[in-house]
Amino acid sequence: MMLTQINNADQSIIITGHLVELNFSQRLTRALKKFLLLISITIAAVFIPVAHFVLVPVFLILSVYFFFKEFKIKQNLIITDSYNCLNCQSNLLIPKELDGNLRMNCKNCHQQYKLSL
Ligand SMILES: [Zn+2]
Repeated sequence: MMLTQINNADQSIIITGHLVELNFSQRLTRALKKFLLLISITIAAVFIPVAHFVLVPVFLILSVYFFFKEFKIKQNLIITDSYNCLNCQSNLLIPKELDGNLRMNCKNCHQQYKLSL
């Protein structure tokens, strides 16, 4: 696998790792765990006076949103080493879950990288 800078294709980082495919039931289980966590926060928010008029609808929408966001994740990326940004040398936080979007940014200097498999 390789991380290539978006606006400077000559510079790239070779990363070692492997992809783990998630099957339907694993994806559903992960999505339901996140959904149930947010629904429990929604239920807890019912008991907060006045603020519950805002908090309950917001957390209800967030629970549905994160259910589908989590369900879209089809692969886990397993990386054991850490890698540094080519621009600023800060540690790169490579996403461990891939939902088809193979791009990432350096959190420090916002350099964009494209992950190619
Ligand atoms: Zn950087």
